[in-house]
Amino acid sequence: MHNFNAGPCVLPREAVESAIEAIRDFDGTGIGILEISHRTPGWERIMKETRELWRELLNIPENYEILFLGGGASTQFFTVPANLLEKKAAYLQTGVWAKKAAKEAKFYGEVEIVASSEDKTYSYIPKNYVIPTDADYFHITTNNTIYGTEIRYDMDCPINLVADMSSDIMSRPVDVSKYALIYGGAQKNVGPAGVTFVIIRRDLLGKINRPLQTMVNYATHASEEERNISMFNTPPVFPIFVMHETLKWVKKLGGVEAMNKLNVEKATLLYDEIDRNSMFVGTAAKEDRSIMNVCFVMAEQYKDKEADFMAFAKERGMVGIKGHRSVGGFRASIYNACPIESVQALVKCMQDFEAANK
Ligand SMILES: *Cc1c(COP(=O)(O)O)cnc(C)c1O
Repeated sequence: MHNFNAGPCVLPREAVESAIEAIRDFDGTGIGILEISHRTPGWERIMKETRELWRELLNIPENYEILFLGGGASTQFFTVPANLLEKKAAYLQTGVWAKKAAKEAKFYGEVEIVASSEDKTYSYIPKNYVIPTDADYFHITTNNTIYGTEIRYDMDCPINLVADMSSDIMSRPVDVSKYALIYGGAQKNVGPAGVTFVIIRRDLLGKINRPLQTMVNYATHASEEERNISMFNTPPVFPIFVMHETLKWVKKLGGVEAMNKLNVEKATLLYDEIDRNSMFVGTAAKEDRSIMNVCFVMAEQYKDKEADFMAFAKERGMVGIKGHRSVGGFRASIYNACPIESVQALVKCMQDFEAANK
């Protein structure tokens, strides 16, 4: 099968195999990972190693904390403003995830939508906007999973920059020092569903003037005692283990530089075919195309062939290529763990469909 699901999605085979083994016997203890205490030394070691892998792969500076929490990226939509929004926050609205994030921030203060691409179904990234310097932070979504647009550079921002990197984390090198906070759900590029990563600059911890529930307060999870193991409460043990194995695989393949090279190669292959093939059209503005989620529709004169192509692709083992209902057409998510062979198979499928139908 060629798995193009948008998330949860394909994982490295090796990570899946070692997860299966760990369910049987974790770390030679004779007990499975689903059945161990999270206070066993073997598990504390995995927590520590996972954090070290993050630090190493993304070159995360010492003055940043790395937290592994529950609740998904959607929980961060309100946790971020709870911890950082004193008066006003600025949001770049590049998709429904960004819009949902801004909605939650309104519970805590004023929200300024600096720019939005909703007018054209979020098919581009707004340019030439002004970031208000009186806001507490500027929130961006680096990769717009549903629409296939991406901000593929680390912008200079005059205020604290906060990024939802759910769907492009570890796909390319990132200059973490340009961000105040980076968060995301693991289930697109770094593991299965169930764990959320938060990378936060230490000076932001415990700064807010409002009382916070213990679990909502980032400082709880980054306190001195928790620093090495980050376990204020029971962490999502199994998802973190699979993330550990996934990051080991990223490291083995050469880290985020190697991932970026491979991802660009895969995306180029697919976009080139979309641009060449007269039956398909890409939906995202060319300069903003995502290398993680590739969105395309049937060309106007072939609109009635959409269901045919879906069936044609399914027969050839393509899974998860139906586009999000708000965009329609097709979306191939080609995250880190999606092998280039799958992209080649999809390209071949599009070529064969053209030959059979044109
Ligand atoms: C998937 C996704 C989310 C939602 O993540 P959950 O973990 O399901 O809450 C948020 N933002 C982006 C960019 C996503 O791709």
